[in-house]
Amino acid sequence: MKLSTLLIGFTAALNISSIKAFTIGTSQQLHHHQSTSSRQNAHSKPISNEPPPKNIVIIGAGWAGLSAAHSLFKSDHNLQITIVDAAPRVGGLVRDGFPTVNGTSQGEAGQHGFWDNYHNIFNLLEELFDGNLDKVLSGYAEQGQYSPRGLEAVWPVYRNQKKLPTGLGQAVYTKFVNLSPLDRASALPMALAFSDFDDSEKAWEKYDNVSFRDLCIKLGISKKCYDEIFEPMILTGLFAPGAECSAAAALGMAYFFVLKSQNSFDVRWCKGNIGKLIFDPWVELLEKNGVEFQLSTKVKGFECSDYDDGRITKVVCSASSETAKARDDCIIEADSVIFAVGGAALNTMVRGSPELSKYSEFRKFSNLRGTGVLATRLYLNTVLDTPYSANACWGFDEGIGMTMFDITKLHEVSNSTGSVIEIDYYHAASLLVMSDEQIVQKAKRDLDTILSQSRNAHVIDAAVVRLPQAVNWYSPGSYANMPKVQSASIPNVYFCGDIVRSRHGSWSQEKAYVTGIEAANKILNRKDGFGIVPLNADEPHVALGRGVLAAAKSLAVLGGAKREPSIVDFLW
Ligand SMILES: Cc1cc2nc3c(=O)[nH]c(=O)nc-3n(C[C@H](O)[C@H](O)[C@H](O)COP(=O)(O)OP(=O)(O)OC[C@H]3O[C@@H](n4cnc5c(N)ncnc54)[C@H](O)[C@@H]3O)c2cc1C
Repeated sequence: MKLSTLLIGFTAALNISSIKAFTIGTSQQLHHHQSTSSRQNAHSKPISNEPPPKNIVIIGAGWAGLSAAHSLFKSDHNLQITIVDAAPRVGGLVRDGFPTVNGTSQGEAGQHGFWDNYHNIFNLLEELFDGNLDKVLSGYAEQGQYSPRGLEAVWPVYRNQKKLPTGLGQAVYTKFVNLSPLDRASALPMALAFSDFDDSEKAWEKYDNVSFRDLCIKLGISKKCYDEIFEPMILTGLFAPGAECSAAAALGMAYFFVLKSQNSFDVRWCKGNIGKLIFDPWVELLEKNGVEFQLSTKVKGFECSDYDDGRITKVVCSASSETAKARDDCIIEADSVIFAVGGAALNTMVRGSPELSKYSEFRKFSNLRGTGVLATRLYLNTVLDTPYSANACWGFDEGIGMTMFDITKLHEVSNSTGSVIEIDYYHAASLLVMSDEQIVQKAKRDLDTILSQSRNAHVIDAAVVRLPQAVNWYSPGSYANMPKVQSASIPNVYFCGDIVRSRHGSWSQEKAYVTGIEAANKILNRKDGFGIVPLNADEPHVALGRGVLAAAKSLAVLGGAKREPSIVDFLW
């Protein structure tokens, strides 16, 4: 097959002759790890006998990229898998290794919880830690919610309460300090939207064009209820204000994290930096099984086949940082390419690559955006007695979400002479421009507002991690621009990550992990759902509500309507 270089690279200045090409060998024998979990083997054998591709290049070493590699190496095929990442450490948005200002410790890219429905990640952790999740994850604990006026709410450990139908359990057991029962009751019409939004393509089309704030206004939710429950939830869950966030993304997220069952909001945290505790052993397992990592290496462009169907044949990379110990610029042979990157990275790649931008499917990615996150970790000289180790906060900066964690407790640091407190800010582009010193002062001020006992404590070191454009921004209308698991225009291109359109309704580490398996399934022609632990079925009252609404909608169609109506149609 004749191959020629087509307009390589994202930058016009890229000098092809200076690229030292190397080809990844394919002869290496892979050792296949057997899953320890019976759930992992719940699905049947591959549905096609077509030989799978040999050289698989995965761009991005976050949850999604590693998950794809993990699922691929466990197949019985002789694959050469290479993961390329621009960063010097694996992990993507859960990366660690950010040195503190005084260099005494290392921070990470914010705190990341593991909620009750993370069945697939829990499955992986069982495999990595011989079934002992407690080795790396904290137990469940009550969580607090603060505003500048003090404690606003306490979320109990729902699994420790008597089981009630989902929705009712959360309403009865969550303790709101200042919100009147009338304001809370105004949230009831939201149940209609949850029944109508069934996560189908049709539901996405309808609800994605509406902002979550508009939906709440139309449903008659009180301003206080919106400001004090829903807006903080969207700012800390989807990292954008409700007015700038798709109602579909918000409903999908709220259902997965809060309403799927009474226990859905129960969360565990990593007992140390996720990079060190989870990703390091995971990388070790992958490397043992032949997966090759090329870190500090940025993908800059692609070479495509002339004759074939435009498939990508080579991935063009360069060292992403002068100080990094990266290889020289390189070209990696590829039979399949998995993009395991976020929306902002897809956007950048398409803008710089004529090979991608000739397809409308890829051009749409230039509409995708990320939103900024600021993660701060304060090392104090005294020990604080924090009432709750994990807290959501609101009202500190307009349009910015905030969380506060007692790292000393979550990481179970004993005999500490001072507390380590993490304060993270979401949708925080306007804070990222401040100097480190200003940021540390602000975080300490906010901590002092939450906990008066910290006022006499001094910050002796701090980590300031800026993540501009980092997290996918599910703005209204963005769903139509998001990739599906397999490209419709370039046949050997696949996508995974929490930007991918998939029915797995969370926007999270779990979603990134699940879509990694989905991409591997497509590459290996396996059945959809192979190796994926599905969500539990809806509870009977939820299924009934959805059934009744669906029946009413189909009756309307019988009555001559062009298409099924939805709640959205009645609101606008
Ligand atoms: C502060 C914060 C708190 C969060 N809290 C939670 C939480 O509590 N629970 C939860 O489940 N989720 C949480 N999330 C979301 C979660 O971190 C993400 O959903 C998940 O990590 C996404 O993983 P990913 O693999 O899809 O993408 P990413 O982690 O974004 O990985 C993409 C990788 O691609 C690499 N890359 C991009 N462009 C290129 C290129 N050109 N060449 C080479 N490499 C490239 C990047 O360096 C990056 O490593 C949080 C996120 C943040 C930032």
